[in-house]
Amino acid sequence: MRNVNECKVCQSELLDTLLELPNLPLSETYGIYDPNFKGFDQAIDICSLCGHVQLAFQLPPSVLYNDVDYNYSTANSSSTSKRFNSFKEFIGQTMNRQTISIIDIGGNDITLLSLFDVPNKYLVDPSLAVHIDYQDVQTIKGFVEDIDLGQIAPQVVLCSHTLEHIAEPREFIQKLLENCAETTLFYFEVPCFEKQINALRFDAFFHQHFHYFHPTSIKKLLESCNAEIVSMQYNAYPTCGGAVMFAFKKKSIEIKTTTQFTLPIQTAANLKKSFRSEYEKFSQLNNQISLWLDKMPRVYGYGASLLLPVIFYHIGAAAQKIKIVFDDNHSKAGFSYKNIPNLKVDTPSNYQIVEGDGILITSYENIPTLKQLIKRRFVAECFEGFDI
Ligand SMILES: [Zn+2]
Repeated sequence: MRNVNECKVCQSELLDTLLELPNLPLSETYGIYDPNFKGFDQAIDICSLCGHVQLAFQLPPSVLYNDVDYNYSTANSSSTSKRFNSFKEFIGQTMNRQTISIIDIGGNDITLLSLFDVPNKYLVDPSLAVHIDYQDVQTIKGFVEDIDLGQIAPQVVLCSHTLEHIAEPREFIQKLLENCAETTLFYFEVPCFEKQINALRFDAFFHQHFHYFHPTSIKKLLESCNAEIVSMQYNAYPTCGGAVMFAFKKKSIEIKTTTQFTLPIQTAANLKKSFRSEYEKFSQLNNQISLWLDKMPRVYGYGASLLLPVIFYHIGAAAQKIKIVFDDNHSKAGFSYKNIPNLKVDTPSNYQIVEGDGILITSYENIPTLKQLIKRRFVAECFEGFDI
């Protein structure tokens, strides 16, 4: 575990703690319950100088991304296609139509690349399954630092939801800029801190996301790497409460860039203030959920999300009350979590759900849709208090 003592955007040591998260469980932990599978103390820090938000402790990749435990796949994630289309639209506004080489860094699979009609496509990711042959995409299982980008000479670099996992984002971007041409365009997407807290997605502060970027810290980060912003926009399809997409390139005297950038710039003091007031709302919501759980004779969860251990962590009473979590993805039936005792994932059709039973949404990505679905399908009482 690495204790982070400086801001990874501006290198200042003026860090302030926004929130302590003692014994925060790991997320993405499908598997057989293991009482020795421990949580780790964590805290969310903000840089008083530039407002960047980051975790105080970075756990090693061997703990965060065990091949056996890590279950994330883009293709399995239902809301992903809308989000990727929106990202593609953003890219289309500035990408050269004659582009012949494109690389996706940390792309997990070819879902994003398949949206582009470009002759030379590359995918580099350390978590790639080696046995999959992707035909028109050259795959490289590994880290981008280990490959010769100069040889690939990409005209476009894509990096969606990866930068927040990287310990040293400044060095990462600097290296990319060094190894690519002046004309290379970079398109990144990351969860947006402000959107996340406004959506009360405090469950999405978790060990795997070292960084919580926002337009202000992205601007600072790119300036410090001697890059210039080409454009920046929010992605209308939320993940972790909301994402921000940004395009940039190496600063150049010859090639003039018109920056399309109208997103709000915030001070660290303002960000701290909104974090505190939004966290207060989140705590109240969790209190309401706990009271409701106490009152209900039997409660099922709905949505076997990767972040469920963190959602339960914040609610407190949930793990004692909820023993079955429903999920419409049949391949998850029979799953359990390594760090939640006596909890089973199953399909609702295996249960007799009667009036008086309760259902709590346990996946926060699509609360309104799930709420409607539950009401339509079950006689059970659904916890209504989510104001998200
Ligand atoms: Zn800073």
